[in-house]
Amino acid sequence: MSVHSEAACKKCTYFDDHAANGQHADAEAGLCRFNPPVTQPEPDSHGLWPIVAKSDWCGHFETGTTVN
Ligand code: SF4
Repeated sequence: MSVHSEAACKKCTYFDDHAANGQHADAEAGLCRFNPPVTQPEPDSHGLWPIVAKSDWCGHFETGTTVN
């Protein structure tokens, strides 16, 4: 079975369905925490976590790892 048929951000260790970068929360989306935040819109603002769809996936998809 290929990773394509099993992978989904909603099942990934690095998916966070918490808040969506301070914007209106989307029930079908969350944050990917695989990499550090990126792209600060303004010098004094926070970086942004990438927003991903629950049904999306990437080559870093992983399950079973505990992130503390
Ligand atoms: S983008 Fe990749 S690493 Fe991030 S939550 Fe989705 S599958 Fe996981």
